[in-house]
Parts: sequence; structure tokens; C-alpha cells
Amino acid sequence: MKKCVTPGEKIGVVEEYEVGPGAFVDGGSIYSSFWGRTLVDLEQRRVIVQPTKAIVLPRKGDRAVALVLSVSTSMAETKILFLNEQVPRSTFTAFLRASEVPTRNMYDVLKPGEIIKAVVKSSKIPVQLSWKNCSECGVLLSYCNECGEILEALGKKLRCPRCGKEFKKPISPNYGEIPVGEI
Ligand SMILES: [Zn+2]
Repeated sequence: MKKCVTPGEKIGVVEEYEVGPGAFVDGGSIYSSFWGRTLVDLEQRRVIVQPTKAIVLPRKGDRAVALVLSVSTSMAETKILFLNEQVPRSTFTAFLRASEVPTRNMYDVLKPGEIIKAVVKSSKIPVQLSWKNCSECGVLLSYCNECGEILEALGKKLRCPRCGKEFKKPISPNYGEIPVGEI
């Protein structure tokens, strides 16, 4: 097995392999930390990721704009679109845990396809995001569950300009302002 992988890509499960350098475990699955190639060390039954690109890791305190890819009760998995308003040189998957929001249930706060603003809490892979002690953090762009229209911020609520449905969410004061560049 030799395969090109991206950061955060699932490369196996813990029942199959031990985790070697360049990989990490989350919830029983093994993920790549880097852009790289997977190698399997058959003697030790472990999977290794050899990086193919120099990695510039996000640093603690960096401001991230991220697209929500998936949501579970305890966390949201995101892809970083901008770091300090620049498109990052590498693609990073980043996790926002419910304890950093704070909420008990991430489903109450986020849904896939939303864009959020957050700060980088830890520069280790996988990158962890937080909304704690951050006045700019929150939802940066959201859409209507009913009709798909982009929502407008109206005070502390979000409102659908097409069907009038309202949503209560932690909204960034910069709601609607997406940094320049292609998403
Ligand atoms: Zn609507």
C-alpha cells in the first residue's frame, strides 16, 4: 500500500495498524497528519505517513476562517480556508470541540456548510480551534435549513430573507465578511 494522502484523510482503523509517525488517532480511526504518502511497516504492522511538502503549521492564536465539513455531538470537523486572512499553503483539517464553544451539543450550534471564525488553540496536528476568549469568533456565514438562502444577521439572530425563518446561533460580529480569495 502506497497512497497519496491529504492532512486529515482517513487511512485506516486501529484494529488494522499501529500508528506510526505522521499519523494520528481519533475515535478509533487513523488519519494522516500531512500531505504525504502512506507506508506500511509490515513487521510492526504500523502505518507511517511520509510528508511530501514542507508544512507550515498554524500557530496558536492565529485567526482561522473555516468551512464546517461535518458535525457530531461533541465536535465539528472543519477545513481551514484562511489563516490570518491569508490562504494557507497547506490544507488543514481542524476540529472545534463542543467544550471550546461552549455547548453540550454541537448540533445546536453548527451544521455542515457553514463558515466559522475561530482561533487556533493548538498548533499540533490535528489543529484544534476554539471560540473561547475571542470576541470575533462565531458563525461567519450560514444558510437557511428550509430554503437554502444565505441568512442575514439581525441583531443576535440570523434571519432568512426569503422565507423569514429565524435562527439563534453564536454569531461573529464580522458575520458575512469573508476574506478575499476563492473558497
Ligand atoms: Zn429560508
